[in-house]
Amino acid sequence: MAEFTLDLNDDQKQVRDWIHGFAADVIRPAAAEWDEREETPWPVIQEAAKVGIYSLDFYAQQYFDPTGLGIPMAMEELFWGDAGIALSIVGTGLAAVGVLANGTEEQIGTWIPQMYGDANDVKVAAFCSSEPDAGSDVASMRTRAVYDEAKDEWVLNGTKTWATNGGIANVHVVVACVDPALGSKGHASFIVPPATPGLSQGQKFKKHGIRASHTAEVVLEDVRIPGSCLLGGKEKLDERLARARERAAKGGGERVKNAAMATFEASRPAVGAMAVGTARAAYEVALDYAKTREQFGRPIIDNQGIAFQLADMRTQIDAARLLVWRASWMAVSGKPFTAAEGSMSKLYASEVSKKVTAQAVQILGGNGFTREYPVERMHRDAAIYTIFEGTSEIQRLVIARTLSGMPIR
Ligand SMILES: Cc1cc2nc3c(=O)[nH]c(=O)nc-3n(C[C@H](O)[C@H](O)[C@H](O)COP(=O)(O)OP(=O)(O)OC[C@H]3O[C@@H](n4cnc5c(N)ncnc54)[C@H](O)[C@@H]3O)c2cc1C
Repeated sequence: MAEFTLDLNDDQKQVRDWIHGFAADVIRPAAAEWDEREETPWPVIQEAAKVGIYSLDFYAQQYFDPTGLGIPMAMEELFWGDAGIALSIVGTGLAAVGVLANGTEEQIGTWIPQMYGDANDVKVAAFCSSEPDAGSDVASMRTRAVYDEAKDEWVLNGTKTWATNGGIANVHVVVACVDPALGSKGHASFIVPPATPGLSQGQKFKKHGIRASHTAEVVLEDVRIPGSCLLGGKEKLDERLARARERAAKGGGERVKNAAMATFEASRPAVGAMAVGTARAAYEVALDYAKTREQFGRPIIDNQGIAFQLADMRTQIDAARLLVWRASWMAVSGKPFTAAEGSMSKLYASEVSKKVTAQAVQILGGNGFTREYPVERMHRDAAIYTIFEGTSEIQRLVIARTLSGMPIR
């Protein structure tokens, strides 16, 4: 067993510094412009593809880092650059994880490359689970997938909402209900291939933060996809449904993770790392500002009221990172999440990010309130972390249920 250490190895430091360089030189300078434009920053994604940051290989390498720190380190640095642009770069990853978690090897090999495209023709992908009436309550999802046995096709109908890259994606991963009687256990994930008739973009949302990331409704009207687009395959789905029906007939029993929950589970510490990146960015701006801004004849950091805030900000950011790293290490080493440590990391890091970015705005005074300084944008961006991938309230529910074994409501 390896000795306990928090030291990064040379390879990790090299990758971290390389991503940081890209975030500082390419992402950060473009942040204000794309925030104002509220459009997907295709040229920046293309730059990321050219240097190898936007590619399946890059994420696979980070994903298979045996310490588990590859993905959180990459996320922290990219989101340190800018959250909206970084989400445009990593949003495809959510759909890719959906395929990795539920797909066969053939499906992984076929669809993930099409999600990214290549440096000359970049593509994005979308993961569509949320619906207008099914956000936190995923089980109440209404989008239906019906199997047409004669044609070996699935027919999808419904409306998805809040989909990152929804409607502009080359490949959409859609979670739909195949057996409404089973609630979330009757869900399955499907690939909707490029240019499939019946899939269209609904409204594109104008947002408070992460405005460079495209978020939209996805409307599915008699969308016909080949049987091979069911992630994991029909045999596996039939077995899973049979087990769920048997348990339902016996009146409950062992809880089974559904397809969407498996995806969220795997991605929560990564969202925590994004939140750490934004918090660290705002803290650094605030620290520099407090050291140089003078009032009453001395730098404002000379006041304990400011200095102690910065001390707390840094302490909380470091604590958040440690929770994220612990959860990521547990995931990669197959340790069971007996205290919902993945949810804990996302909960704490996202709340810290919201708080720290608000403190940064305050430390910059009037300047913090303007778009001349980046903390205003970082504060707006940080608000997303306590909402997507499960709100803070839902993380607390998951943690409380895991700790108590009780069906806390
Ligand atoms: C910018 C953005 C990008 C997103 N990207 C994606 C994406 O790519 N794919 C995707 O599928 N979804 C995506 N989402 C959706 C996101 O995951 C949902 O918004 C989130 O799960 C919350 O659902 P909701 O918005 O319907 O809120 P609701 O579920 O309606 O919740 C409203 C409020 O009630 C609280 N609440 C709900 N139930 C409980 C309870 N039992 N106990 C206590 N409090 C409760 C919530 O915490 C929240 O504060 C995105 C959302 C946004 C804003």
